[in-house]
Amino acid sequence: MGVMDVHQSRRGFVKAAMAASIVGGYHLATVARASEAEGPTNLDDIEWTGEYDVIVAGAGLAGLTAAATVAYEGDGATCLLVEKGEGMNGNTPYSFGFQMTAKHPEGLINYIKALVKGATPDDVVEAFVEGMKESLDWTIALGANEGDIQDVDGFAVPGKVGEYPELPGSDSVSCFRLSGDAGGPKHVFLFMQEYVTAHSDVIDYRTSCPMEALVQDATGRVVGIKANGEYFKAKSGVIVCTGGFERDPEMLYNFTGVSEVNAKAGMGNTGDGIRACMKAGADLWHMSIGAMYWLECRNLENTSFVKPNWNFSNKRWGITVGMNGRRFYMDDDGASVTNAKLSDDEVVSFANADGDLTRSVGYRHAATQFGGEWVTLPMPSKAWFIFDADNLANAIDPEISADPVADGWALSADTIEELAEKIGVPADELTHTVDVWNGFCDGGEDVAFYRPAATLTKVATAPYYAMLCKPTILNTDGGPVRDAKARVLDPAGDPIPGLYSAGEMGSVWGGMYNGTGNLAECSVFGRIAARSAMASE
Ligand SMILES: Cc1cc2nc3c(=O)[nH]c(=O)nc-3n(C[C@H](O)[C@H](O)[C@H](O)COP(=O)(O)OP(=O)(O)OC[C@H]3O[C@@H](n4cnc5c(N)ncnc54)[C@H](O)[C@@H]3O)c2cc1C
Repeated sequence: MGVMDVHQSRRGFVKAAMAASIVGGYHLATVARASEAEGPTNLDDIEWTGEYDVIVAGAGLAGLTAAATVAYEGDGATCLLVEKGEGMNGNTPYSFGFQMTAKHPEGLINYIKALVKGATPDDVVEAFVEGMKESLDWTIALGANEGDIQDVDGFAVPGKVGEYPELPGSDSVSCFRLSGDAGGPKHVFLFMQEYVTAHSDVIDYRTSCPMEALVQDATGRVVGIKANGEYFKAKSGVIVCTGGFERDPEMLYNFTGVSEVNAKAGMGNTGDGIRACMKAGADLWHMSIGAMYWLECRNLENTSFVKPNWNFSNKRWGITVGMNGRRFYMDDDGASVTNAKLSDDEVVSFANADGDLTRSVGYRHAATQFGGEWVTLPMPSKAWFIFDADNLANAIDPEISADPVADGWALSADTIEELAEKIGVPADELTHTVDVWNGFCDGGEDVAFYRPAATLTKVATAPYYAMLCKPTILNTDGGPVRDAKARVLDPAGDPIPGLYSAGEMGSVWGGMYNGTGNLAECSVFGRIAARSAMASE
């Protein structure tokens, strides 16, 4: 039996197993495929609430773009858009809104190929860049005000190149952003939401309506969804855009090995669409990749971040130790460009500082230089940020708290030994760590982890302080494999008919990631998926 035969017989088996079946409800709260929500097992027994040309699940930028594409290009085609939350439930509304564009497509293709290190096929990368060429014009064509658009050559900061300047094509990155708060949602999210709402003649946009299952016919074709207890039929296809698994502790632990993770946003992103696609036979990719992890300061009760968005710079004012009282990584974490802002006058990108892949330190969207390569590192579930009295106002903005100890943000003690006891780490280890660190500061070099010289801040003046740090994440990138037409593929590499995806659920970003690339793929693959579905490709 040849390889092809193996594939064919396996597919035959899968199809037989799915014959006359519905991929019934899965349990939303766990990874287990519970059968409690199973519906009818025969398509003929289903009472369809409605029928649409295209059904889209998830209303972040990917889902909104897919729905808008149906309205804008579909010549009267209809779309059901179901969203689990009331609207602002995913990552898009809280993002900074920067979208990669392709002003220099040849260089950009080379750059992204180098970033993904073969984890994404070339034709998918090429389709991505091709799609980026139209993103800005397409957004304007939908009605965005050109005067509101920030058009940037570089990555988020004008004049800067991509996050990996040592890679070919890194000077080809460009991006744009609609006006609004850096922290959203008054940028592309609100614009697209307004567009979708304004096209209610063809888009049925239902919030608080979670997709619970995909419905397949006897051939395995996805023909609809179950959402909020009702069944909806799709004539041309279903596009799953339900985001990642930032809020699913089991998936985070299983796929990335990290526990007790705090996500910055993505409240509704519990991996629902990933499990639904798995149940429909999808293969997975990029599951361990994402804008993760770093150790960000929380209040002592671990209920709140010191700053809701990235807390860019406070970690440079001290050191971070694990529960063994030792430093264990380059502990001035954050993100490359933002981490680089030392003051209003002085902007240095540490991660990009010397352009040498093997020697740069820092964080590039939370990828960490590790053994001379940039990888998504796990982080321990708990650590402590240690600093001294001289740096209290730097470590925590007085506007957030003038008395961090009284306000529950920090513990303090007059000696390092006493502080060690309060935070439950070995006193001898913490004392040694602080002594060694202060020696590095005196010598002008962090011989252990090569933290940039500008960040060598001693821990030497009592009282001493400790803030709780927990592993933090912006977004995951893993999910069902998609091809250049945004079709979801099975493990044999064949498209599952009628099933498409867009956005960070099964992102094309494998390997290393460049900021602005997630929203770009929402926009690009949202359009591609809608076009493919409408053409029944
Ligand atoms: C603070 C922050 C800043 C960022 N800044 C940028 C940036 O400037 N540029 C960039 O490129 N990227 C940025 N990112 C990453 C980017 O925001 C996300 O990757 C992107 O928004 C993902 O969009 P999406 O449409 O795939 O998913 P999301 O926007 O997360 O939307 C998914 C939606 O699906 C819904 N959903 C989940 N399950 C179901 C279900 N069962 N049924 C129906 N709906 C469901 C969720 O409620 C959610 O609304 C940032 C992320 C964060 C957290």
